[in-house]
Amino acid sequence: MSLKEEKIWLSSPHIGDTEQYYVKEAFDTNWVAPLGPNVNEFENSIQQYINNNVHVAALSSGTAAIHLALQILGVSLGDEVLCQSFTFSASANPIIYLGATPVFIDSEEDTWNISPILLREAIEDRILKGKKPKAIVAVHLYGMPYKVREINEVAKEFNIPIVEDSAEALGSSFYGVKCGSFGDIGIFSFNGNKIITTSGGGALITKKSNIKEKAVFLATQARDNEPHYEHSSIGFNYRMSNILAGIGRGQMQVLDSRVASRRANYQFYYENLQKFSEIEFLDEPENYFSNRWLSCILTPSFEIREKIRLALLKVNIESRPLWKPMHLQPIFINNPSYTNGTSNTLFERGLCLPSGSNLTKKDLARVVSVIKKQIK
Ligand SMILES: *Cc1c(COP(=O)(O)O)cnc(C)c1O
Repeated sequence: MSLKEEKIWLSSPHIGDTEQYYVKEAFDTNWVAPLGPNVNEFENSIQQYINNNVHVAALSSGTAAIHLALQILGVSLGDEVLCQSFTFSASANPIIYLGATPVFIDSEEDTWNISPILLREAIEDRILKGKKPKAIVAVHLYGMPYKVREINEVAKEFNIPIVEDSAEALGSSFYGVKCGSFGDIGIFSFNGNKIITTSGGGALITKKSNIKEKAVFLATQARDNEPHYEHSSIGFNYRMSNILAGIGRGQMQVLDSRVASRRANYQFYYENLQKFSEIEFLDEPENYFSNRWLSCILTPSFEIREKIRLALLKVNIESRPLWKPMHLQPIFINNPSYTNGTSNTLFERGLCLPSGSNLTKKDLARVVSVIKKQIK
C-alpha cells in the first residue's frame, strides 16, 4: 500500500508559463548556440533583480562559476583557499581543479554558515605556518545568509577576496540587500533542484565590468581578438546556451512567487511542529531574509533523525540528512580544518524536509503527520 502513495520529492523543478515561449523563440530564430538574445536578457533580468550595480555572466553551472571566480581572483597551483566546511562538495571541488588546497572552516550556530571566529583563527594560523590563504569561499547554505558583516570584516582586515557561493540563496537578502552581491565575486546555480532552474546552469556576479568580461572570455575558450583563432591563455567551454537561458528568462518572472511558496512551506512546518520539544528550527536573525530553499529541522539525536527519515521514505516521501561537512568527507579527510563540532552535530541530527514550491497543503500535511507519529 505504501508504494501506491504518491511520491513527494525533496525539491523538484517548477516551471512557469513563459519558459516554453522563450525556448520556442530561440528555435524559431535559429539561436541554438551558447550565445544569443535569451542569454543577454537572462543576464539583464538577474542584474535587475540583484541590483543595477552588478554585472552577470550566465554559465553552464554554478560549479563552473566558482571555478572561474577562483581563477579570476588569482588562485593557482599550490595556493590555499579557505572554504566553509558545511556545504555541498561543489563549493570545494573547483579549488582542487586549480591545483590549490581547500582549508575547511566550521560553522556558527546562528546561521549554520562559516564562523567568523574560526575564519580569523584559521587565517592567523595559516599565515603563521607560512602561507596566506588566497581566497575565501563562504556559502549562504539552504538560503540563510551567512554573517556578511563579520565575514567581510575579517576578509578586509587580511585583504583576502571572497567568493560568495549563493547557489542556494537566490532571492535571499541581508539588511534588504540581495545575496549574490556581497562577495568580490558571487555565484548562482540553476540546477534542477534549486529555487529556479534552467535544468542546469549557473551565473557569476560581479560589481566590476572587467571581471564579467574576463569570465565570458574564459568561458568561451579564451579566444583573443583576431580574425583567426588565437589563444594566449587556456579557456573553458562554460557559457550558458541560448536555449537554457530561455528557460531562465521564464523562471525569473516567477522567482518571487517561488520564494514566497518556499517560505510558506517553512512556515507550515514551523507552525505544526515547533511545539514539539524534539523538533528545532533555524530562525532568521533580525534583518536576515532566507529564501528557505530547503526547510530543515534538527532532531535530538541521529537515531530519531533516522527514524523520521525512514518513516517518510516508507510512505514515498523524500527527505535528506543535512550536508555532510567537507572536513569529514573521505576525499578531504587529510585537508587542514578548523572545527568546533557545529557542522558535525548538524549533519548527525538534521533533516531537510520536502521543500518544493509546487507542494500542496495536502503534501505538507502528509509530511507533518508522519513526523508527528514518530515523535509521539
Ligand atoms: C548546487 C550547488 C553548487 C553547484 O551548482 P551546480 O549548478 O550544480 O554546479 C555549489 N554550491 C552549493 C552550495 C550548491 O548547493
